Amino acid sequence: MPENFVKEINGIKIDPIIFTFRFGCKCTGECCHFGVYTDLKESEKILNLKERLIPLMDETQCKDTSKWFEPAEEDEDFDSGVAVGTEVINDKCTFLDKDGLCILQKLAMNENSYKWKYKPLYCILFPLVIFKGALTVDDEHIERLKTCNINPQAETSVFEACREELLHFFGERGFAELEEYRKEYLYSQRADKPGHSIGVPSGEAA
Ligand code: SF4
Ligand code: SF4
Repeated sequence: MPENFVKEINGIKIDPIIFTFRFGCKCTGECCHFGVYTDLKESEKILNLKERLIPLMDETQCKDTSKWFEPAEEDEDFDSGVAVGTEVINDKCTFLDKDGLCILQKLAMNENSYKWKYKPLYCILFPLVIFKGALTVDDEHIERLKTCNINPQAETSVFEACREELLHFFGERGFAELEEYRKEYLYSQRADKPGHSIGVPSGEAA
């Protein structure tokens, strides 16, 4: 349960499963086929980009901005307290083009800006997610995807797979604190410590 997590960074509790859950990201972006929940402010920012986004859309995408987002709903895991889902059109997020590229990222890169400047936070974080105030693995969504994390040989933890994303989310100080906590946590789970048996991904022993 999130309320039992002992570590908190930047107001977010840390589920230590992120240090041991094995994850490999090799597919072509099936996670974008279901759309994503954005914060209300993120959706407003995206709508304000419409003049620059529409020219990047292909024939599989909808240029009618009134169809880009679902109705808003309350959700305390979003900064503004309101979540807005992106619509799924032609079996993919409305912002995914036929080549499997997110046009929000494409726009930023075309402008020589930071690649995630316009991308919703939950797109950046997946397969991590903030759930009930805690950073954890979005295992429910992973399980309903056919090609996500299918490599049973994956030896890296989701923490290792998502270092850049976590640095983006926590900032340098917060990420350094997360790394320290990871070391402490993995040490506490070592096989030679009494009463613990969690498997630590190879190469990640503290
Ligand atoms: S996160 Fe999962 S679904 Fe998304 S690109 Fe990686 S492996 Fe594929
Ligand atoms: S906004 Fe972009 S990254 Fe997020 S689900 Fe849609 S296409 Fe994928």
